[in-house]
Amino acid sequence: VIEIKNLHKSFGNLEVLKGVDITARRGDVVSLIGSSGSGKSTLLRCCNLLEDSQQGEILFKGEPVRWSGNSHTRRPADARQVLRIRTNLSMVFQQFNLWAHLTILQNVMEAPVTVLGRDKKEVEDSARRYLEKVGIGDKCDAYPAQLSGGQQQRAAIARGLCMEPEALLFDEPTSALDPELEQEVIKVIKDLAAEGRTMIIVTHDMKMAADISSHVVFLHQGLIEEEGLPEDLFTTPESPRLQGFLSATQ
Ligand code: ATP
Ligand code: MG
Repeated sequence: VIEIKNLHKSFGNLEVLKGVDITARRGDVVSLIGSSGSGKSTLLRCCNLLEDSQQGEILFKGEPVRWSGNSHTRRPADARQVLRIRTNLSMVFQQFNLWAHLTILQNVMEAPVTVLGRDKKEVEDSARRYLEKVGIGDKCDAYPAQLSGGQQQRAAIARGLCMEPEALLFDEPTSALDPELEQEVIKVIKDLAAEGRTMIIVTHDMKMAADISSHVVFLHQGLIEEEGLPEDLFTTPESPRLQGFLSATQ
């Protein structure tokens, strides 16, 4: 679904990604781990073109992103391509970013109706279905402030699903939550993985990563230091940096 080759990304003089390759095929669950500042969020944001990058290729379903400008001023050349990619890679953030003045149902319906121009009644039916699926079907008419953090994050996941995306991108979806609320959200993510949804997940939760990933990528200072199957990476890490990282997060 998404393929990234030799991606380089700098903010001014700060080189954050120094040539990263990552692929998520249909049904893959790719976990991105690494210490703070290693470039995980930046990489995820590059995937759905929320960030520009200076060098490297990004392919969505085999279709390369077309760029304009030179290596310093590079931007996507085709706004419609950007929109197509972005709406097909739903992003779920650490802070759920629900609209405070809309009900939960309206939050979930907003983008499919306004961005994709889909039929309102149809969208409402599927929005209710997704809210049911994440276990908050009874909260349709509540406002975000009336929900717990775990419920808000599940609403944000339903909102992502309602776009009917090719893949879901999660950036530390549980790290703003108390441990018991975290479990509710982890359960939803596990169910999605079991369904065969394509996902890329930035997480500090090694247990979840070990549980649900088809592939784990350990990022260190903007480079992939080690990657592989979760059963290999977590039990017999080769790189001393990954060994250190894993023992520090236990
Ligand atoms: P964390 O685990 O703390 O979320 P991360 O691996 O997600 O870390 P990034 O958010 O990708 O790290 O940041 C990587 C580096 O890029 C950091 O040094 C950060 O300060 C820098 N950075 C990120 N966003 C910007 C920005 N918009 N402008 C300038 N520098 C940025
Ligand atoms: Mg981050």
